[in-house]
Amino acid sequence: MDTLGAVRKIIHCDCDCFYAAVEMRDDASLRGKPLAVGGKAETRGVIATCNYEARALGVHSAMSTARALRLCPHLVLLPPDFRRYREASRQILAIYRDYTPLVEPLSLDEAYLDVSGLGYCKGSATMMAEEIRARIRNEVRITASAGIAPNKFLAKVASDWNKPDGQFVVRPQDVDTFVAALPVSKIFGVGKVTAARLQKHGVRTCGDLRAWDIARLVAGFGRFGTTLHQLCRGIDERSVRPDRIRKSLSVETTYANDLPGLDACRAELPALIAEFRRRFAGLPAPRPIHKAVVKIKFADFSQTTAECTSAAPGDAVWAALLDEAWARRERAVRLLGVGVRFVETDADESAGDKQGELFE
Ligand SMILES: [Mg+2]
Repeated sequence: MDTLGAVRKIIHCDCDCFYAAVEMRDDASLRGKPLAVGGKAETRGVIATCNYEARALGVHSAMSTARALRLCPHLVLLPPDFRRYREASRQILAIYRDYTPLVEPLSLDEAYLDVSGLGYCKGSATMMAEEIRARIRNEVRITASAGIAPNKFLAKVASDWNKPDGQFVVRPQDVDTFVAALPVSKIFGVGKVTAARLQKHGVRTCGDLRAWDIARLVAGFGRFGTTLHQLCRGIDERSVRPDRIRKSLSVETTYANDLPGLDACRAELPALIAEFRRRFAGLPAPRPIHKAVVKIKFADFSQTTAECTSAAPGDAVWAALLDEAWARRERAVRLLGVGVRFVETDADESAGDKQGELFE
């Protein structure tokens, strides 16, 4: 953990439309055209990444490729080539590690760096971020954006602020004002449904949410309420963990309208699995899969997970787990999740990783 409450300097670096950027770098004829990397429409593929020309036409990542092609019939669609993406990712990580060993990769193109107390650039994290981005531009020939802040939460928000090819700093003395104005939807874990629910209570910004005491937040959001109480005040004590070992990966969706029954749940499954596969492909160093998991939260807020051993779960494995989990209560569903647990080793236990809890 950080030393004696000293102000930390965290950089969140995030490459701009990473897969698409690598494709445009390697093939000049693709530049200036709407471009997406993803699965084919015929196989119910989804868009993994698209460039800014495609975004201007309404295409975005996680959208089904079929829908993207309806929006943008001239979209150039490429299959992902992870060999080249991993190579670029390795180069970028090496640049980060020239500055600090405290690098926590989140995906192939995103990482947190803790640069507190370093001597480079006279200790200026802002200048270090400029330098790192310039090196990525020159050495890897793609662009990256960065956020600089006293903690992870704000660094990640800030890296989005001047995207693409930009950076934004939240200085310690500006945290309070910056966070107060921030829409609650910028908080990780606050999805569309939660944001809409808060809006009904007149809460739009983190500043608005500060009027809620812990008891009210916990009553409304369970354990996450405590986290919300801190985040809406710009407090985030999580350290940058270079040794963090991911124990699981999952995606889940809370539905604006409860899914009435099993058929409705089954109909949502392909979209969840597609999103899971998209995120899985972008993991920096996935380990072997141990188990497939389905989570259900029912309309009465009771929840259950079903899991089974599977080294390479196909759609049918998750479908069977969904049936099993739903049968336990047989009622309307407000949230569905699919995911996997990875093989663990004894070494993981000594690493004491508590952050990898599934569906956290
Ligand atoms: Mg990115």
